Amino acid sequence: MNVSADTPEQVVEAVRAGWPVVTTVASTDTRRRWREGGVEYVTCPNQSMGERGVACNACFLCQKRDRPFVVAFRHHGPGAKRADRRLEELTPLPMAGD
Ligand code: SF4
Repeated sequence: MNVSADTPEQVVEAVRAGWPVVTTVASTDTRRRWREGGVEYVTCPNQSMGERGVACNACFLCQKRDRPFVVAFRHHGPGAKRADRRLEELTPLPMAGD
């Protein structure tokens, strides 16, 4: 079972509580692996490996309970742009001086 977190703050809270966490990122996000707020993120390989792709039955990354990273899924499908806009509302860009 995964906890689905919508914001970086929720991710940190769930990771600190010891849960396996998944989250979403913008459809345009090209990152594959990164660190943010003390948390390691890995994008679902099915999305990040392009045409080489990885099928779930050869991956199981998001199904491992004791993993030291959060699995991120890029918004996709017909609602991707709407989800991107919602994510921008939830995580506004920092203002100059923040
Ligand atoms: S098992 Fe999870 S992380 Fe791996 S390809 Fe499937 S959905 Fe992505």
